Amino acid sequence: MAVTDHVDLNGFMEGVKKRNPHQPEFVQAVQEVAEDIFEFMEDKEEYHSQQILRRIAEPDRVVSFRVCWEDDAGNIRVQRGWRVQNNNAIGPYKGGIRFHPSVTESVLKFLAFEQTFKNALTGLPMGGGKGGSNFNPKGKSVREIMRFCQSFMTELYRHIGADIDVPAGDIGVGGREIGFMFGQYKRITNNFTGVLTGKGLEWGGSLIRTEATGYGAVYFLENMLATKGENLEGKTAVISGSGNVATHAAEKIVQLGGKVLTLSDSGGFIHDPDGITQDKIDWVKTHKTHRRGRIEEYVEAFPKATFHAGKTPWGVPCDMALPCATQNELLGEDAKMLVANGCRAVSEGANMPTDLDGVHIFKAAKLLYAPGKASNAGGVAVSGLEMSQNSERRSWKEDELQQMLKDIMAGIHKSCIRYGDQGGGYIDYVKGANIAGFKKVADAMLAFGVV
Ligand code: NAP
Repeated sequence: MAVTDHVDLNGFMEGVKKRNPHQPEFVQAVQEVAEDIFEFMEDKEEYHSQQILRRIAEPDRVVSFRVCWEDDAGNIRVQRGWRVQNNNAIGPYKGGIRFHPSVTESVLKFLAFEQTFKNALTGLPMGGGKGGSNFNPKGKSVREIMRFCQSFMTELYRHIGADIDVPAGDIGVGGREIGFMFGQYKRITNNFTGVLTGKGLEWGGSLIRTEATGYGAVYFLENMLATKGENLEGKTAVISGSGNVATHAAEKIVQLGGKVLTLSDSGGFIHDPDGITQDKIDWVKTHKTHRRGRIEEYVEAFPKATFHAGKTPWGVPCDMALPCATQNELLGEDAKMLVANGCRAVSEGANMPTDLDGVHIFKAAKLLYAPGKASNAGGVAVSGLEMSQNSERRSWKEDELQQMLKDIMAGIHKSCIRYGDQGGGYIDYVKGANIAGFKKVADAMLAFGVV
C-alpha cells in the first residue's frame, strides 16, 4: 500500500525547517509559496501523493566549491562558490550568478527556488538555478575581478552547458564579469556556445537584455494599473537600489510620464523632490557602474536632493514603490508606512525584497502588489530569448525584442489574474504567480514519474 504523507502546511514547513537548519531565506521563500500552494492542492490528490512541492523544495543538487585567486599584492585569497540546480523539469537550469559578501547557501537556494517558478511563468522552456560566491567585488581592481571570475569558472564549467545550465548576471555580476567568465569557459572547453546570457552584443548577446528586468517590472506595473483604468502618467515612484534593475526601472517610469523620487544603495537613499530625470539617471549609471561610486555623491551633483544615511526610502510618500536592491529590504513596518502614505502599487524588481510580514500587510490592504517572481521576470525572459538567438545563430532587432518583452510581461500578468482573481476587483498577484508557476512545473514532473 502506498504511503501518502498528507501533512498540512504547518507539518510541511516544520519538515522544511528541520531539513534546512540555519537557512532562513530559503525557509522564508518556501513558506511564501507553500501558503498558496497548499490551498490550491487541497483537492488535487496527485500532487500530494507524488510529493511534488516537497520535491521542488529539495534542489536537484547543490555544488559547492573552493575558489582561490591571487590579489594584486600577491596574497592568496580563498572564497566559496556555489551553483544550486533546483529543478529542470521544463528546461535547462537557468538563473544568475551573484557576487556579494552576503551570499550563503541559504540565499542561493532561495533564489534558485524562486527562479524555478519565475522561469515557468515566462512561458519559455527554462528550469531554475542560481549561483554565486561570497566574493566582494567592491574595492577590487579590474584585474583582481578578472582573476576571480576565471578561477570561479575553472570549477563551474564542468557543471554548466547550453542544454544543461545557463547562468547569467545578478548582484555584483554585470557584462564585464560575464565577459571574463565566458572567456574562461571558451578557453577551457574550446567551445563557443550559449552557455551564459547577458553577453556582449559582439559575442552572442541580445539587445535589451541589460534593460529587460527594470523595464519589465514597469511594464508589469502598467498592466496592474490598467486593471484600475489608470496609467503611470503623473504618478510618483519610490525606488530602492541604484544598480542595473533600479536604474532601468527608473528610466522606463520616466519614459512613461512618471516621476521618480528616490534611489538608494547599501549606504542609504537619496530623495530628489524635483524628480530623477533621464540625465540624472545617466549620471547614476555612470557613477555607480563605471566609477563604482556611492549614491550619496548624488547630492553634490544635484544639490536640491537630500541623502539619508543608513535608511531605506519607504517613508517617502508615493503612488508606487519599486524595491530593486536586495532581499528583505522592505519590512512589515515599511509596508505599513507605504500603505498609510497612500501608496497604491508595488512592483518588485528585486527578488524577495519584502519580508513575510510585509507581504501579508500588502495583501490585507489589497494593494496592487506584484511579487518579484512575476514582475522581475523580464530579465530572464530576454535571457531565454538570447538562448534562442544563440541556438539559431541569429540576432533579433530591438523593436522585435521590446515587443516580445512587453508580450511576455502581459502574459505573466494574465497568468496571475487566472489564478489570483479574488473577485470584487482584487487580484492576489502573489497567489496567482505561485500557482501558475507551480502548476506548470508540477505537471511536467508528474509526466516524468518518480525521478
Ligand atoms: P546590481 O546592479 O549589483 O545592483 C544592486 C543594488 O542593490 C546596488 O545599488 C546595491 O548597493 C544595492 N544593494 C545590494 N545589496 C544591498 C544590501 N544588502 N542593502 C542595501 N542595498 C543593497 O544588481 P541588480 O542586477 O540590479 O539586482 C538587484 C536585485 O534584482 C537583486 O535582488 C537581483 O536578484 C534582482 N534581479 C536582477 C535581475 C537582473 O537581470 N540583473 C533579474 C531579476 C532579479 P551597493 O552598490 O551599495 O552594493
